[in-house]
Amino acid sequence: MEVTRPLAPAVEPNETSDLLTHLATGAEAVDRASDWPATSWLALQSAGVLGWPVAKEFGGAGHSAVELLRGAESLASACLTMAFVLSQRDAAVRRLLAGPDRLKLRYLPRLARGEVFLTVGLSQLTTSRQHGGPALLATPTASGFRLDGDIPWVTGADQAEAIIIGATLQDGLQLLAVLPTDRPGVTVGEPLELMALYGSRTSAVRCDGVDLDADLVLAGPADHVLGKAGGGGLETSALALGLAGAAIDYLHREAERRADLRDIATRFEAARRRARERLHELAVMPTATDAIHATRVGCTRLALQATQAALVIAKGAGFVVPHPVQRWVRQALFFLVWSCPRPVSADLLEHLALSDLSS
Ligand SMILES: Cc1cc2nc3c(=O)[nH]c(=O)nc-3n(C[C@H](O)[C@H](O)[C@H](O)COP(=O)(O)OP(=O)(O)OC[C@H]3O[C@@H](n4cnc5c(N)ncnc54)[C@H](O)[C@@H]3O)c2cc1C
Repeated sequence: MEVTRPLAPAVEPNETSDLLTHLATGAEAVDRASDWPATSWLALQSAGVLGWPVAKEFGGAGHSAVELLRGAESLASACLTMAFVLSQRDAAVRRLLAGPDRLKLRYLPRLARGEVFLTVGLSQLTTSRQHGGPALLATPTASGFRLDGDIPWVTGADQAEAIIIGATLQDGLQLLAVLPTDRPGVTVGEPLELMALYGSRTSAVRCDGVDLDADLVLAGPADHVLGKAGGGGLETSALALGLAGAAIDYLHREAERRADLRDIATRFEAARRRARERLHELAVMPTATDAIHATRVGCTRLALQATQAALVIAKGAGFVVPHPVQRWVRQALFFLVWSCPRPVSADLLEHLALSDLSS
């Protein structure tokens, strides 16, 4: 992918800026159209956002975990589609940062400058296809591994020079590796027709006898190579919180001229503050998986409830395209399926099972 170096000075993750206005203006189009959102991506690059998670020694800004969560929340409230695409690229950055030096050097400087796009296809190890055999099988060979099977979900796959993939060996151990998309045997499917976030160009990727050199392995083979949490991390919660925030900001604006809405807006604001504080606390302390998952459930419920409250207030007008409320309501449903490990799904189902209405 041909891209140019950043031209504008970097914005801080917590800074409101022209970038957010730019992203918000394009948000409906990138949610609904399958075209790669090149203009919005270039805006992220120009504002220096692509360097945020990359360590300084590789040319990035090396922002802290809390700064990154704050930045992700702001971006998601402006345009969830772009914040989501960025989150998948940033997940690739995190995996590279934990990998061997040769792969860091090969990719991270170019990622920081926005000269290359990488993404992840990891859910087959955690939240997708867990009820059958391995979706993507890795078989040891003399030079590394052979890959066969499916990577069911890869955002921006057809834009990616390489995908950080997870594969399972016959004995159940797992590995993480960099899979260049031009390897013989790699087939990137057409973008899936999504109910929201369509511009993320999410596809399935097929591997048929793909040779993977040993020097492309990032981690493993090992048991639970991604750790025990298996998805639903703080980054996903930050995006849910950002989307909730877009709806809560709308409630505040409406409450300025409709006094009867002030109490509702105040209650949602308090919930947003509590969720944000919890998220930032978890980012700086060694944390049990349960707490991470509980936060994800809380942020998902807040996104669903705040966007639906916004729809109640926007009424029929909010149901009509391009009113932003209809987009936020559709996008909130994404958090019911994206990166939801079993405890998160179980808890969400428990809340959805109308426990308070059944007695
Ligand atoms: C828009 C979008 C973008 C995404 N992008 C990425 C990405 O870039 N990278 C990435 O790694 N992941 C990505 N994901 C994957 C995501 O994190 C989840 O893993 C995914 O949504 C899980 O859905 P699934 O249909 O694959 O789940 P599955 O569990 O495979 O379910 C598939 C079907 O099987 C059925 N089923 C499930 N469990 C059972 C069971 N026990 N017995 C019988 N039937 C069962 C379900 O009812 C379902 O219809 C993306 C997902 C979405 C929706």
